[in-house]
Amino acid sequence: MGRKSKGKRIHSEGYVVISGGKHGQYEHRIVAEKKIGQKLKPGEIVHHKDRNKKNNKPGNLKVLTPSQHNKLHLSKKIKTRCGYCKNPLIVHPYKFQYSKSGKVFCTTRCSGKYNNGGGVKGKPFTKKEDKTIIKLRKKNLAWNRIGKILDRNRESIRVRGMRLMKGGK
Ligand SMILES: [Zn+2]
Ligand SMILES: [Zn+2]
Repeated sequence: MGRKSKGKRIHSEGYVVISGGKHGQYEHRIVAEKKIGQKLKPGEIVHHKDRNKKNNKPGNLKVLTPSQHNKLHLSKKIKTRCGYCKNPLIVHPYKFQYSKSGKVFCTTRCSGKYNNGGGVKGKPFTKKEDKTIIKLRKKNLAWNRIGKILDRNRESIRVRGMRLMKGGK
């Protein structure tokens, strides 16, 4: 995470591709081959245990035949928590996709709130809070300081603040 190195890019399907050759190579396949000490056979699939296509640590990868791989994806459910409300969540791996933030949400309402940086308790901002945000921001207070004053998380304050400064509602 966060480690950027030259010659890596993200494939449109979310896999990490390393430059080289004609079209580059999938990082997870290179790592898996190193792990098992031999080239992958045609048709063999490298599975990401945590379903995160960008997590190519050897421990997260497993070499499987297509039928083993299908079985695994169709059977095992993943226990996790909603990225916003933190409610326990069981997701069906077959349909499961990480969002851009790497989180998964129980409802579109929760994903919407997360993306809009909703308040700690999901409350809408009051007029008074809006005024306070504008006032403090004009004094160049950092978003996290304003967040502490209003008991909101930093990200929600920042998103709200940016919107207010642009004159939006
Ligand atoms: Zn898989
Ligand atoms: Zn939720």
